[in-house]
Amino acid sequence: MGSASFNRILLKLSGEALMGDLAYGTDPEQIERIAQQVREVRERDVEVAIVVGAGNIYRGLEGAAEGMDRATADYMGMLATVLNALTLQDAVEKVGVDTRVLSAMAVTEVAEPYIRRRAIRHLEKGRAVIFAAGTGNPFFTTDTAAALRALEIHAEAILMAKNGVEGVYTADPSIDPNAEFLPEISHREAIERGLRVMDSTALSLCMDNDLPIYVFNMADERNVDRIVSGERVGTLVSSKPATEPATRVRT
Ligand code: UDP
Repeated sequence: MGSASFNRILLKLSGEALMGDLAYGTDPEQIERIAQQVREVRERDVEVAIVVGAGNIYRGLEGAAEGMDRATADYMGMLATVLNALTLQDAVEKVGVDTRVLSAMAVTEVAEPYIRRRAIRHLEKGRAVIFAAGTGNPFFTTDTAAALRALEIHAEAILMAKNGVEGVYTADPSIDPNAEFLPEISHREAIERGLRVMDSTALSLCMDNDLPIYVFNMADERNVDRIVSGERVGTLVSSKPATEPATRVRT
């Protein structure tokens, strides 16, 4: 294994990333593939923390749209991330990587409480750390949890896994034939152009704290390892203005 470009990264997995081709829930084969990728990162001696979403199970906004109190629905969403975190822990441990789940909501029978220094200690000991229950606060998302935790643990980058798209585009490539792929973009430009990197709260937090985000396609199993080893994959969102031009997706 060659040398790595990072010492510590944070991988953001949306609920959808765990779904594979299913319409709902978790696909065991997909989870196994993710676990293998986590193992590869650890084999490069890179410390890895993971924030997991819950869109494959429940989103607070869906409950709110059906008339439920938004905060209650959001707490349900956060609990759903705990289910995903445990699923992921099981798979990552099966491939031989020690793992700890740290939760922002108290679920002490199944996960440790989130304590920043403890998270850092686990990472230093080579354990993969899975952050569950988002930020612990309603009205936020797990994207914001990813930005927040990455900053707290001094991760050098967020690896933002996308389902089936290579990175950031000027428009949705499945709808707009003129959509262009952006290999690089600044946080500010992504916010101003309303591009779908992560939600705006999370993106602002990354911008204000100069935290780079690598947006990549989770469907290609080599991508995480490539990014960790310094290859340019997907879109890099950073504080630098873009130097590489956008490229047309279709002609
Ligand atoms: N959530 C929340 N606060 C947080 C993180 C998550 O209230 O800090 C809730 C919110 O309802 C959200 C759900 O948990 O819809 C699942 O998280 P998210 O939508 O970010 O999952 P993803 O899109 O990454 O699968």
